[in-house]
Amino acid sequence: MDLRDSIRIIENFPVEGISFKDITPLLADGEALREAINQIVNHLKDKNIDMIAGPEARGFLFGVPVANELGIGFIPVRKPGKLPYDTYAVEYDLEYGKDRLEIHKDAIKPGQRIAVVDDLLATGGTVAAVSKLIEEVGGEVASLNFVIELTDLNGRDKLQGYDINSLIKYD
Ligand code: IMP
Repeated sequence: MDLRDSIRIIENFPVEGISFKDITPLLADGEALREAINQIVNHLKDKNIDMIAGPEARGFLFGVPVANELGIGFIPVRKPGKLPYDTYAVEYDLEYGKDRLEIHKDAIKPGQRIAVVDDLLATGGTVAAVSKLIEEVGGEVASLNFVIELTDLNGRDKLQGYDINSLIKYD
């Protein structure tokens, strides 16, 4: 199965000039969804991962089933004001705009190995912010996993030294 067949491309969404990769056909197709989750699980299964972290909202869609398959927990990284307990926050640049993400201060035990899961790697700003939060609360970022990577945007340059796994690449 080619997972690429389950991605729909929408031109000029959400703003002019962006070629948006829509993952909803992949989510709608049970076989494709299982394949995507299995591929991420296979990449992580021998890496001694303690927990999965994923940014709101599409990181939740893939991160939780991966955590479930591995039999480990999930850490939500959220938009401002959503997490109820004490948080750390970081501001970062998006492919289109600026944003801020937060993590609970007690989300990770010192030295735990954390794998990040998100739908898409573009400029790398989001996952660099997530990695910074994980490190700030004492975790080790053991792997960064994406369903899609937009290679033209050179997200990997921002993420040197990290293990990076993407299932589908577009240039
Ligand atoms: P980055 O921070 O520039 O790497 O952008 C990645 C984040 O933006 C991810 O969390 C994605 O959910 C979102 N994103 C950026 N471009 C797209 C796209 O074409 N399709 C779906 N999500 C996107």
